[in-house]
Amino acid sequence: MHFTVITLFPEIFTSFWENSIIRRALEEGHISASAVNIRDFAKDRHRTTDDRPYGGGCGMVIKPEPLAAAIRSVKENAPDAKTILMTPQGRKFDQSVAREMAGEKEIIFICGRYEGIDERICRNFTDGELSIGDYVLTGGEPAVMVVIDAVSRLIPGVLGCENSAENDSFSRGLLEHGHFTRPGIFEGESVPEVLLSGNHQQIERWRLEDSLIRTFLKRPDLLKTGKLHREEVRILKKWQDDIAKLIAFQEREAQS
Ligand code: SAM
Repeated sequence: MHFTVITLFPEIFTSFWENSIIRRALEEGHISASAVNIRDFAKDRHRTTDDRPYGGGCGMVIKPEPLAAAIRSVKENAPDAKTILMTPQGRKFDQSVAREMAGEKEIIFICGRYEGIDERICRNFTDGELSIGDYVLTGGEPAVMVVIDAVSRLIPGVLGCENSAENDSFSRGLLEHGHFTRPGIFEGESVPEVLLSGNHQQIERWRLEDSLIRTFLKRPDLLKTGKLHREEVRILKKWQDDIAKLIAFQEREAQS
């Protein structure tokens, strides 16, 4: 997968490429990436990339000519690449969009700044618009980093442990179970006994129940939209029975 980021601030990405999993993914060739400076495509003496909006009002707008030239130049070597504009008005990014994008060979991201980019670029030079959430950032660069990070970890070979991403929250429609590491007792609180048992079947069962509990408590909306496995529904039914028994017991206690 090759990522190209078209931006007014390519230097923002330097430390992003140079750290942690993204650095290793680049070094090992699982992904490649480059940042293209829109200013390099400005033709005038001052290398102008923005101008005042027609119709008046605050702020500046990224000019169409240098941006179009930057996109055309990148597309020359990557004619099949998808061109995605980062904007709060775009399709909402989530794990399923990340999975879709991980299947692409090459993606070009356009980062806006100020009031955004000239509408004619949005209409005629992009294949889609992407938002990382319903809030407004100063520029598209942090949003692109979010997307590249989330997509990269789904590309085979990028994560050390192949099935790490498979168990992540949202991958199977649930939040992931809790994690514990040494020491076994920390400030008086012990690790759940079952995790020390060495019994893999019981550990898997505990993890599944923990996933279901935390999804139910933190994100019940996920249980309404996703399709659960038979075993997961069985666990929910068992809780239902246990809770019904508890309620019946409490009601009897209240009457006596
Ligand atoms: N005036 C624009 C509007 O209201 O839709 C917002 C412009 S914003 C200040 C500047 C740039 O930041 C945008 O062009 C976009 O590239 C980026 N941006 C801001 N919020 C974003 C979000 N939630 N997701 C993706 N990109 C975002």
